[in-house]
Amino acid sequence: MISIRSLSKSYSGTTILDNINLDIIPGEIHGLLGASGAGKSTLLRCINGLEQFSPSGRVRVDNIELQNLSSASLRAFRKNTGMIFQDFALLERKTALENVMLPMTCWQKKTKELRLRAMGLLQSVGMEDKADHRPAQLSGGQKQRVAIARALALKPKVLLCDEATSALDPATAKSILDLLKKINQESGITIVMVTHQMDVVKYICDRISVIERGRLIRTDTIKNILTSQ
Ligand code: ADP
Ligand code: ADP
Repeated sequence: MISIRSLSKSYSGTTILDNINLDIIPGEIHGLLGASGAGKSTLLRCINGLEQFSPSGRVRVDNIELQNLSSASLRAFRKNTGMIFQDFALLERKTALENVMLPMTCWQKKTKELRLRAMGLLQSVGMEDKADHRPAQLSGGQKQRVAIARALALKPKVLLCDEATSALDPATAKSILDLLKKINQESGITIVMVTHQMDVVKYICDRISVIERGRLIRTDTIKNILTSQ
């Protein structure tokens, strides 16, 4: 699903990503585990086409070679990946329903149709009764549910999660991970989870890649990683 070859990235002489090679299997939940500043978010942004990389690097997502795309094509490509963040990134002045509808406005369908689909998405994350609430009226876990519904609005093949549960208390974090697992099992969507928490990858990931100071030091199943420690 995702294939990364010789990917390096530096900012003004400092190496942030150093020769990353990684294959992510369709339908898996893959964790990118590492300490703060290791380069995980930068790697995620490379997969999402938000970062430019050196000519030696290659990133292929669902048979699209990102390094070959123009910036307009990259923008179009990004619609095929959903993304969720630690801080939810919802629009505060819009309701839950409007936040979920927003990405779909590019489809130029009737508002009624978009509203119906957005309601269905809110229902699938257990938030249909909060459709008219603004983010300020929602708890952290509820906001993340709305953000997940929004990320799925354009039917992406990949869901990228950047510290998606780091701002939540343990019980709420677990319920969000359960939801992501359910979405993965029901739709087969590939999920990439950036986290600094071993607990998170242990709970939800099929395989993980360990990132240390810009280097990918190991990719393996969670079982193998745990038994060899
Ligand atoms: P992580 O997600 O693992 O915490 P990041 O990918 O956010 O790590 O950052 C990796 C390193 O790259 C950090 O040292 C950070 O300060 C640096 N970095 C990230 N983005 C930029 C940028 N736009 N310009 C310069 N340095 C950056
Ligand atoms: P995260 O917590 O998700 O890893 P960061 O706080 O590292 O995000 O970065 C937030 C934003 O600031 C990103 O867009 C990143 O590119 C930018 N950034 C991070 N570190 C630096 C830096 N040292 N210099 C310039 N921009 C940076």
